[in-house]
Amino acid sequence: MHPLLDGLNPEQRLAVTTTDGPLLVIAGAGSGKTRVIVHRMAYLLDQGLARPEQILAVTFTNKAALEMKERVHQLVPPTRRRGELLVSTFHSFCVRVLRRHLDRFGGTYTRDFTIYDTDDQGRLVKACLKELGLDEKQFPPRMIQSAISAAKNRGDTPDTLPPSSDPKRDAIVRTFRLYEARLAAANALDFDDLLLLTVRLLRRFPDVADDYNDRFRYLLIDEYQDTNPPQFNLVRLLTQRQQNLCVVGDPDQSIYKFRAADIRNILDFERHYPQAKTITLARNYRSTKTILRAANAVIRHNRARREKSLTTQNATGEPIRCVVAPDAEAEADFVVGEIIRWQRQREHLPEADTRAAVLYRTNAQSRLFEEACRRRGLPYVLVGGFSFYQRAEIKDALAYLRLLLNPHDDAAFDRIVNVPARGIGKATLDILTARASQTGVSRWTATEHLLAEGSLGGRALTALSSFVSLMRGLQAMVEGATLADLLQAVVKRSGYLDMLAQEGTLEAESRKQNLEELITAAAEADERGESLRAFLDQAALVADTDLLVEQARVTLMTIHSAKGLEFPLVFIAGLEEDLFPHARAAVDPEELEEERRLFYVAVTRAKQQLYLTQAERRRVYGEEKPTDPSRFLDELPEDALAISAWAGVRAQTASAPDGRFEPASRPIGETPWRRDGSPEPRRARPGSSARPMADAPDRQGFKVGDRVEHATFGVGQIVRVADGKLDIAFPGKGIKRFVTEAAPLTKL
Ligand code: ATP
Ligand code: MG
Repeated sequence: MHPLLDGLNPEQRLAVTTTDGPLLVIAGAGSGKTRVIVHRMAYLLDQGLARPEQILAVTFTNKAALEMKERVHQLVPPTRRRGELLVSTFHSFCVRVLRRHLDRFGGTYTRDFTIYDTDDQGRLVKACLKELGLDEKQFPPRMIQSAISAAKNRGDTPDTLPPSSDPKRDAIVRTFRLYEARLAAANALDFDDLLLLTVRLLRRFPDVADDYNDRFRYLLIDEYQDTNPPQFNLVRLLTQRQQNLCVVGDPDQSIYKFRAADIRNILDFERHYPQAKTITLARNYRSTKTILRAANAVIRHNRARREKSLTTQNATGEPIRCVVAPDAEAEADFVVGEIIRWQRQREHLPEADTRAAVLYRTNAQSRLFEEACRRRGLPYVLVGGFSFYQRAEIKDALAYLRLLLNPHDDAAFDRIVNVPARGIGKATLDILTARASQTGVSRWTATEHLLAEGSLGGRALTALSSFVSLMRGLQAMVEGATLADLLQAVVKRSGYLDMLAQEGTLEAESRKQNLEELITAAAEADERGESLRAFLDQAALVADTDLLVEQARVTLMTIHSAKGLEFPLVFIAGLEEDLFPHARAAVDPEELEEERRLFYVAVTRAKQQLYLTQAERRRVYGEEKPTDPSRFLDELPEDALAISAWAGVRAQTASAPDGRFEPASRPIGETPWRRDGSPEPRRARPGSSARPMADAPDRQGFKVGDRVEHATFGVGQIVRVADGKLDIAFPGKGIKRFVTEAAPLTKL
């Protein structure tokens, strides 16, 4: 047999070798759908059915794309993979297309558009509300933002929406209109536009569509159940000539309805592509029998679904452990204690077999788990937290670069026009904004007009003209200089570094180090021969999940980010009514089914051991309230569960013969876990004097600026020391956070 087909079962093999025509692989969690995609790409290359550049594979995150590419590389000999294999997200793919062809529309569209990320979009919506005199309390910006996004995805424009006497609808339409006008003036596209315009482009210009149809002989799409209508349309447009399209997915794992994902795309695939062949995979390779049985039992409570069988030949495994903790802090403490115990028992195993994940419904739940990890000295990685590219200094520096490429980028302009402070006050900015909106031009153009008219007062005039000449000076560098030099010039000439130096705090020092890390990233982009444009595109497109550190032994993340991943040990926390399922589910049966799919996704991430935890009381908006157990707990087969009373958990802790619950190393500045196993007294609240001072050298003597070596990441530099944690910048790998006492570090 062909070696590529080894390690595949007969159905998977069929899915890999059925290369021509539309193919739907529909199967439950852990059945090897993603594996099929990877092996199929490898097979196409290996058999010479396609050159790398003739294949387009679409995944859900940039990180998943990178991993897939690597796996294909491992499977295919180098001679068969010369050329660029395009594995990307829908958004990244659209950016490529639009950068080549957007100017075909003419008018205001140019190829050097700026991408507004979610954060920029939020700011813009707020600015529009303010400009229209609409009250943020009455019309929450987030609500307006999602209403605008929904309208765009339905194909609506401000002109197609009927006028309404309902104040909310009226506010949405008015904000939508101004929002679109501001985007156009700024030559900016938001995330929705990236998809919508690509679809429109391929529809309007058949020659462009033909080019892509000719180029991509094979299309492969993972997680097809979460595609939305524009993505569906895009796939249709790319498969007009040939239909060598393979989509894989699981309708029971459709969890992105809030981003307009439409489960019908997968359910109706055979209708959309009448020639389609369908293959189902019925064997799960990931989980124990117990975990799979629980997952199957839960999802059966959904009505709107097709029943499919999923069995495993894996071991029965341990029962699922359910624990009710008295409150959310105790819950987090318990979870972290169990992870330490579980991992200790498996110290002799390869690291991959000891990884653990804590999954929760909402991002806000992460804090207590972070704190518990820190107290117990357990290193962890938080996914979707405050990522490198979201830090203020990084966004500021990038905003300068954005403005250099596109002076009409209002979001960038607003961000840095007075950062560092250069005496451009609120009054001047108000004049600017008013002028920009009256004349329908960007802030930059309005500035030029105001300066030319000479109508501004003395101080404002000096301040604005010095900003303009700063930007012009930098602009002159864009053509000739490397990215690293350009960025260096930006932070220096703008006065940003001076500002940080003047602040003189350790926090400012760590921000400076972050900027240096960004310059390192720019230097690496230079080495790869990347353009400024490509560098900025990447920064705009990195999704939260893309920052997942592969080697982490403990990962904290939301269930949404855990899609497609697997871990030997999984905790699902906060199994309480109104939290999981979310409160919305109480009034909307469709929402409840979506929440149940989310629970199914969570359960099926576990390979060996699953824990479900609940807090009896939880703080909501600062007030602690009793909770009800999640209805999902009742939907699990009782004989798959081991329910422990809290007292029992405590007793087990106390009687652990070898002090297994003793943490690996003592937390900093806090009461040690007692030897008798009883929980430590309530710890000091954050901000109390029990905590070490931010950025003070920690007890092991690590301080900002130290060079250290880490077992996995190599040599790096400490950029922040706070709360018993170290942030270390590893060139090319970004900034990672470690718990000081547990991090395997050597000072150099
Ligand atoms: P999800 O629905 O969660 O995305 P999936 O269907 O994409 O899951 P994979 O992630 O491809 O499933 O596979 C699940 C696990 O099973 C992986 O660890 C994979 O390596 C393993 N696996 C898949 N097929 C086989 C096989 N034929 N033999 C051995 N292991 C397999
Ligand atoms: Mg998968």
